[in-house]
Amino acid sequence: MNIKLTSYGGVQEVTGSCHLLNLGGLRILVDCGLFQGGKENYLKNWDDFPFDPQNIDAVILTHAHLDHCGRLPLLYQRGYRGPVYCTPPTSELAKIILNDAHKIMAEKAQRQKLNPLYKEASLKKLYQNLKPINYYQSKQLTPDISFQFYNAGHILGAAIVEIKTASRTIVFSGDIGGQNMPLVKDIDYLKDADYIICESTYGDRRHEGKAERDQKLIEAVKRNTLKNGVLLISIFALERTQDVLKVLNDYYESHLDFKTPVYLDSPMAISATKVYRQNTAYLNPAAQDQLRIDADIFSFPHLKLAKNVKQSKLINQAPSPKIIIAGSGMMEGGRILHHLARYAPDAKNKILFMGYQVPGTFGHRLLNGAFDFDYYGKKVNIKAAIDKIDGFSSHGDQNELLKWLGSFAKPKQIILAHGDLEVMKVFVDKIKEKLGHQALINRRQETLELK
Ligand SMILES: [Zn+2]
Repeated sequence: MNIKLTSYGGVQEVTGSCHLLNLGGLRILVDCGLFQGGKENYLKNWDDFPFDPQNIDAVILTHAHLDHCGRLPLLYQRGYRGPVYCTPPTSELAKIILNDAHKIMAEKAQRQKLNPLYKEASLKKLYQNLKPINYYQSKQLTPDISFQFYNAGHILGAAIVEIKTASRTIVFSGDIGGQNMPLVKDIDYLKDADYIICESTYGDRRHEGKAERDQKLIEAVKRNTLKNGVLLISIFALERTQDVLKVLNDYYESHLDFKTPVYLDSPMAISATKVYRQNTAYLNPAAQDQLRIDADIFSFPHLKLAKNVKQSKLINQAPSPKIIIAGSGMMEGGRILHHLARYAPDAKNKILFMGYQVPGTFGHRLLNGAFDFDYYGKKVNIKAAIDKIDGFSSHGDQNELLKWLGSFAKPKQIILAHGDLEVMKVFVDKIKEKLGHQALINRRQETLELK
């Protein structure tokens, strides 16, 4: 069987993941994500697909992050009618993420006088075609082609995809985390693969100790209370929010005299947390143990949810100290911007980032020392402290990526995707040094024959 791989996104970049695998004529698209970060990248989303969506036989979605699922509605709008296979939690989370993205994009398109990327009807078509397949269940696509999902240790529902033909095994890492994540199960280490398409977001660096992450967050929370300040936590609605809620849950429930209110000001994060609550079977054993004594590990005294705009505005009236958790995680929009405009000019406040900031985003600029920003035509000075905690990252660092790649016995070829070029170059050298494999960096629209 002739096997060809062509990548159209997530190529020497961390967004827009999209890989087309042609297995002897059966065309499988793995992910169809949104390009993010900066205007130029964002406008790429309106480009034609470099393939005919009607010719795709099946889509396999690794997880619900927008840079992996964000262009799926557009794929339907432009003619795709087939199934989108994903795990059950991904199916639920993708709907929340895509509904929210559609709302934000429609508003943005109106402001910028662009056509919306896709119509609401295309979302509905996609939702009807989401086909949940559980982890470890082999799904036959043709008599000699099947695939199976494994735990990726990244976010709830995230999967590594193993695609098998009679003679070849091809593994897509999707986005992978590692071990000892606060909530999701550890990553699965696979042994057999001929070709591995591996993400490399953090291929050039190591995260600060995961062991310290909870402590760092609690220290920031305590210090904020002592300073009578506002701690503004910029957050991704998926996984990071639930990780942080769980850490706060553990602290607040064991320190009942600690009364600083925590506001979760993100309808999307509130909805996503519900999916976590309903899918506890997919959480790791430690979280499941805890659930036996604490029925709700995402809820604790002094946590207040702001579901609507009125509740969000009321947060302003609450006296300090207080903690506000809001999105978007890269400060590209969302309620966090209103809070930032209000609280950034005061030096006793703190803005805390909990994850990777794509270059070109406002979050990246802030983290790299921006002095001010424009808020609806008004200049806002930034005096608040700015900090980040990396240990919550749902992406594995260099060591974790190497460990995962190292578990394969005899790969024919490792192909790197989902990373900045400079990072990938460092990672290629590291793979050679530690594992003795010559990894390849994928290039846009270059077709590789997987012999
Ligand atoms: Zn992801």
